Amino acid sequence: MIAQAQRKVYDVCIVGSGAGGGMAAYMLTQAGADVVVLEAGGPWDNMRDSVMLRWPYESPRRGKSTKERPFGEFDACIGGWDIEGEPYTTAPGTKFGWWRARMVGGRTNHWGRISLRFGPDDFRRKSLDGLGDDWPISYDDLKPYYDRVDDLIGIFGSAENLPNEPDGRFLPPPRPRCYEMLVKSAADRLNVTCIPARLSIITRNHNGRPACHYCGQCYRGCHTNSNFSSTNVLLTPAARTGKLTLLTNAMAREVTLGSDGRANGVAYVDKTTSTDQRIDARIVVLAASACESARLLLNSKSSRFPEGLANSSGVVGKYLTDTTGTDVAGFIPRMQNGVPHNEDGVGGGHLYCPWWLDNRKLDFPRGYHIEIWGGRGVPSYGFMGGIDRYPEFGGYGKALKESYRRLYGTTIGFSGRGEMIPNEGSYCEIDSTEKDRWGIPVLRFHWKWTDHEYRQVKHMQETFRALIAEMGGEVFSPMPTREQGYGIADGGRIIHELGGTRMGSDASRSVVNGWCQAHDVKNLFVADGGPFVTQADKNPTWTIMALAMRTADYIIAQRNQGAL
Ligand SMILES: Cc1cc2nc3c(=O)[nH]c(=O)nc-3n(C[C@H](O)[C@H](O)[C@H](O)COP(=O)(O)OP(=O)(O)OC[C@H]3O[C@@H](n4cnc5c(N)ncnc54)[C@H](O)[C@@H]3O)c2cc1C
Ligand code: SF4
Repeated sequence: MIAQAQRKVYDVCIVGSGAGGGMAAYMLTQAGADVVVLEAGGPWDNMRDSVMLRWPYESPRRGKSTKERPFGEFDACIGGWDIEGEPYTTAPGTKFGWWRARMVGGRTNHWGRISLRFGPDDFRRKSLDGLGDDWPISYDDLKPYYDRVDDLIGIFGSAENLPNEPDGRFLPPPRPRCYEMLVKSAADRLNVTCIPARLSIITRNHNGRPACHYCGQCYRGCHTNSNFSSTNVLLTPAARTGKLTLLTNAMAREVTLGSDGRANGVAYVDKTTSTDQRIDARIVVLAASACESARLLLNSKSSRFPEGLANSSGVVGKYLTDTTGTDVAGFIPRMQNGVPHNEDGVGGGHLYCPWWLDNRKLDFPRGYHIEIWGGRGVPSYGFMGGIDRYPEFGGYGKALKESYRRLYGTTIGFSGRGEMIPNEGSYCEIDSTEKDRWGIPVLRFHWKWTDHEYRQVKHMQETFRALIAEMGGEVFSPMPTREQGYGIADGGRIIHELGGTRMGSDASRSVVNGWCQAHDVKNLFVADGGPFVTQADKNPTWTIMALAMRTADYIIAQRNQGAL
């Protein structure tokens, strides 16, 4: 739906309606600003469009993935690694995958809702171990915003008082499932910290939304809005203010610049008519996701900014990071022939393991956390990953069914999610020849892991194998070798890409300041993962939203003072 409103001058134009864009829109509309959001994807409403509570056999493909729903036919999120007509390229030798959502709410329609705060050390890593850079802001600057995000959206967890895993304002966590209790006792014996997960799913009624009823299908979108998505938790109340104009199928092409050196709007393609359009605005906020915001800046060239808007430092697109990741799963014989019981819960693990070791005693810097999976949830297409991996599976017909009954729920797996150190070899730039279907130049990625990441992932593999052995289990796959990168996932594959418009106090080494405001263009802001200076061993979205909230507060204050 494209409104006939092009000649109006909005107070703020936000590009992207995901985690960062949704939060910026919520805050700015509540403060009375006239906001337009440009969203490249189509509309979505959890209450109308989610396919919660359907059986896998109700799907013609039994839930198998489709091109635009790579995580399964019932998944809420439309997007994927390959989007028709929107390519990206990689430099020779680079392995990088770019997952993009194309819908209102962006990736928050699917995400795992693991909602971790960065800790005090995560903002000053260079001071602690000499690697990478420090942020120009500290945990104390962001803490009030984490608190407000917790209160606004709702998150469960437990107060643990761990040094670099700050507690939040938590709702009560759900109880561990059977397999999670087994992991917990093995972790305790191996001195691996294992605590209740921290997910943005409400276990009590919260701000007009009902508590989760434990259907375990968060990835399909929640009819009752008991989990967080930007669409229904931020954009719906923003729309209620009457101050939000949401333009869907609006693909931003570039930020336009006035003769006064200020951004004055955004040029975009109306995908429904394939026509070029523009929005006029006093302030522009980019929240199209870290790499796409870098792409927009690099494509916004002018005589004043021949290398791309706000890129006098040459840092736009640089210092990209993703979470390091590897997985190990095993068969746990003790779980065979379990009494069938209800393992419903939230759509995600009820426990996790935050980083628990001291790097001074290890051969790699920075840490990782462990996500735990397994159990007896509703089976879907490809469940159990092939029964032939299990011992004594069998036969046809009745014997095979009995094998499934005996073996279902006997797999426990671990995913490591760790911190990559930004390096000069991991960045994106504009491809000199390739364009997308609207003629917009595309991104070309360069990616490099260093020994820091390889050694960290080796440690993950060894830890997960030790945990499975401690439970009396058998790992499904052999230990990957150094040549196999110890099983490290390719860049981008954990879908936590950050950086590209990093923040800093020194305008020659960073793109935005501590308020996510471009050094070069005072009325231009970035509200996604672009400004991150470090990756941390935490999933990034809670920090994206805390930063977006803080940036919006700054914009409101500056506007009130007439400074913007
Ligand atoms: C399967 C999966 C699991 C995840 N699990 C977790 C987790 O448990 N915890 C966690 O912290 N993070 C998780 N993430 C990552 C999380 O989803 C992202 O960090 C977060 O959504 C990023 O927010 P964003 O606003 O930067 O981008 P997005 O949420 O991707 O939103 C960007 C929006 O901008 C739109 N857009 C892009 N380009 C343009 C353009 N040119 N013009 C107009 N609009 C545009 C897109 O269509 C999209 O709607 C997960 C992601 C996936 C896919
Ligand atoms: S598990 Fe809870 S939050 Fe998730 S979809 Fe079901 S009811 Fe909604």
